[in-house]
Amino acid sequence: MATKPELETRSVHAGLRPDPATGAVAPSIHLSTTYERTPEGETRSDFLYVREDNPNRHALEVALASLEGGEAAACFASGLAAIDAVLRVVPPGGRVVAPADVYHGTRELLRTHHPSLTVDFVELWDLEAARDALSRDGASRDVALVLVETPSNPQLRITDVAAVAEEAREAGALCAVDNTWWTPVLQRPLELGADLVVHSSTKYFGGHSDVQGGAVVARHADSTFERVLAVQRQAGAVPSPFDCWLIRRGLQTLPCRVRAQAAGAEVVARALADRPEVDEVLWPGLASHPGHEVARAQASGFGAMLSIRVRGGYDGARQVAGRCRLFTRATSLGGVESLIEHRAAIEGEGSPTPPDLLRLSIGLEHPDDLVDDLLQALSP
Ligand SMILES: *Cc1c(COP(=O)(O)O)cnc(C)c1O
Repeated sequence: MATKPELETRSVHAGLRPDPATGAVAPSIHLSTTYERTPEGETRSDFLYVREDNPNRHALEVALASLEGGEAAACFASGLAAIDAVLRVVPPGGRVVAPADVYHGTRELLRTHHPSLTVDFVELWDLEAARDALSRDGASRDVALVLVETPSNPQLRITDVAAVAEEAREAGALCAVDNTWWTPVLQRPLELGADLVVHSSTKYFGGHSDVQGGAVVARHADSTFERVLAVQRQAGAVPSPFDCWLIRRGLQTLPCRVRAQAAGAEVVARALADRPEVDEVLWPGLASHPGHEVARAQASGFGAMLSIRVRGGYDGARQVAGRCRLFTRATSLGGVESLIEHRAAIEGEGSPTPPDLLRLSIGLEHPDDLVDDLLQALSP
């Protein structure tokens, strides 16, 4: 579904215009925490107090709603603060369905901070399992929220968003999709039927590993979204004006970065696919990937994240990461520099991540240099 102006144009302009007072083309950073009233006590603009709203956050929210094709967006201080706001909309005692290999931080958030919620961890990429989680033997299971991540982290499983959103709607559940990894440049879950999209803006939106943030984007600015907004404004886990300014600036180059990084990931994935030191390359753009067809149907590219499973198990994987010279050994993703991470070590005991798995975030270096680095690390 084409929306005019096109995504690239909106990423540059949505929510921004030259400053009417000075003509400044780049937006100013409004650090003020409070806004003057007229002698009559009226507000002069839409702004009152920084936590409730401010010009930089407003510009970012307008842009994010526009890019995802939603009616409204609410920005948070981190991706997990955004996910937490969505979980707070679920009534106490409510049932939540989450992916079996949900992002580690979301799993901890559910376990530690939402003990009243009943959470079913389900292999949502298997539609039968998704259906079964929502209703069993014809009886509704009263699920309040289905959380989807596609691709999943770090195993890159692909979930059919349209099918799961449809099942959720029939079951009376909200469907929220974590779209951090593929971003609206490649995949727009609201257009596929999801109610909410959540993001860690710390990743591709910021894009330079120097700012933290999160967002909830809503298909409709309805009563559910009003509750998310109330959590944002009253609990106050909000990004600072400068954080918003950095993330809004990041969005201007988002389409270019995501596509170039995904093209680099393709070169890396194909170069490693036939190597004897690599047991498996998990990148949905490979025809051999079990989610390839669904990914092709619901996204316009296959992203810049991939995982590889290497010979030698837990220790072998750690040694490969240890020999990398160009890839930086660090957590996180979505920046201009390529990162490599041994997830099982990070996630610790009880992690469902295979011990021989290395997760790669492909940056903007020349892909041939990245391949050379990985080949020397795989066979020293
Ligand atoms: C990083 C990440 C998060 C958490 O975001 P923070 O900004 O670190 O709080 C949530 N979901 C996914 C898929 C992520 O990669």
